[in-house]
Amino acid sequence: MVRLLIVEDEPKTAAYLKKGLTENGFVADLVHDGDQAVAFATAGKYELILLDIMLPHRDGWSVLAHLRSRGDHTPVICLTARDAVDDRVKGLRAGADDYLTKPFAFSELLARIHTVLRRSPQRAPDSIRAGDLEIDMARQRATRGGRRLDLTPKEFLLLSLLARNAGNVLSRTVIAEQVWDMNFDCDTNVVDVHVRRLRSKVDDPFSQKLIRTIRGVGYALDDEE
Ligand code: CA
Repeated sequence: MVRLLIVEDEPKTAAYLKKGLTENGFVADLVHDGDQAVAFATAGKYELILLDIMLPHRDGWSVLAHLRSRGDHTPVICLTARDAVDDRVKGLRAGADDYLTKPFAFSELLARIHTVLRRSPQRAPDSIRAGDLEIDMARQRATRGGRRLDLTPKEFLLLSLLARNAGNVLSRTVIAEQVWDMNFDCDTNVVDVHVRRLRSKVDDPFSQKLIRTIRGVGYALDDEE
């Protein structure tokens, strides 16, 4: 069960968020002001915080700044009614992991939550194995059959994303979002180009191919020995 903290002072929105997230399998606590947000976030173990910006007592920026200054890196998605680029920049600089402008579709919120959770280092394992592929996340190194693969940082990210989801198909859109942070009109051609380069290093020198193309959809990494 993934535990979330919802910080929202507007009763209708708060109830709607809690209901929707509970229905989607999350355990969600709800608080209504900035002081409570700090108290709950400090005391509880949350995997993600949904943080409204305009709050009584202390606003979302202040809550976020407080958490980050204490070394708390719980992922935070900021929610705000103000649709300003400045706010978005401010939020991301202050240490928010993502930013959503109200009103938003619930499906959009769910997608963002899943993206942020997948990216969260707290949930990432130290190493990932798939077949004879081994990825050392701490040292940012990958080997196949004990042979070191010489990868660029983006290739490493791409390979670890595929390996973390071994056996599952990842769409180009999901890959673009995860590796390049392209949330909107993504140029998925970038994905194809990088997968081709990655294959030349990960698959071409070996007889068993790991990366599979699923035509019209995306890519998958096979995890069978
Ligand atoms: Ca508010």
